[in-house]
Amino acid sequence: MSIEEAYSREFEEIIDSEKAYELFWDGHIKDKTAFNCIFCNSRITCANLDKERAEMKNLPHFKSVEGHKDDCDLILIENIKKNGTGTGKERSFIDGEIDELKIISNIVGVKKIINNNISEEGQYNCLKKEKIINGYKEGVRRKSKYNSIRPIISKYQKYNKDKLLNNKYINVYKDKGDRKKDININYSDMFVNVSETNIDKVSKYKRIYYGEGIITKRNNDYMVIFNTGFNKDKYSIRTIFFINTDKHLSQLNNFEQWKNRLEDIVNNKEKLMIYIYTNYIKETSYVNNEKKKINVINPMLESIGCFDYRRL
Ligand SMILES: [Zn+2]
Repeated sequence: MSIEEAYSREFEEIIDSEKAYELFWDGHIKDKTAFNCIFCNSRITCANLDKERAEMKNLPHFKSVEGHKDDCDLILIENIKKNGTGTGKERSFIDGEIDELKIISNIVGVKKIINNNISEEGQYNCLKKEKIINGYKEGVRRKSKYNSIRPIISKYQKYNKDKLLNNKYINVYKDKGDRKKDININYSDMFVNVSETNIDKVSKYKRIYYGEGIITKRNNDYMVIFNTGFNKDKYSIRTIFFINTDKHLSQLNNFEQWKNRLEDIVNNKEKLMIYIYTNYIKETSYVNNEKKKINVINPMLESIGCFDYRRL
């Protein structure tokens, strides 16, 4: 039986497994067993939480440790789904159609601070949990709120496989600036292949640009290079951006992890699929060692949450 959502005792919220993965890798939660069933409170772990994406055979997912209690509503819901009886309306706490993407600055981090005194079963904030569960029973639905593009990319891969890219949306309210309205953009429009895009036709809104590439080291910083850059006048232009150690990495909770991962990629010359979420793409030029003027396109990396990669 699949468990889509669980209550995180460390984060004190109902979350999906992608959010759990994001929180774990950003250093905000630490224990992969600190989850409970929303309905019967039985113990749940999040499998693959501590695995690098590259070594993962399956996506992160919740699984029951001790089985659910007999009267657990989750079992009831699963049976209704299986038998095709029921109203056809799935009872889900988290909105399955729309995800929310709100990139936060490196320094602020996730506001919620882990409560370190919750290691003992049952000692977490029961009142808070009760409030959340009651909200659920009254039909409150929430969006999955992600603070980096990492879960969005995993979902993109999943939706792409299931041919759902046009039916699933990302809410990008916070990136919209002045006008106070939500924007839901579907996954298909959000992801733009760099090598198929003319530089004069890029959106003025933020998009996730992707393409195959590599990462090299430049002094203390990292230079990300797309194999095939944006196009201009039928030519592909060299497209690069920088991960600046001081600006993007040094303030992170998990600075060491990031540093080690990037060093590995550089040293092993790994081939990657690169992703960057931006609307600031500048065309510039520099003079190379042979005194030749080279045009480059330079997307700007706002924060490390706007960057991700997958090994090829
Ligand atoms: Zn249960």
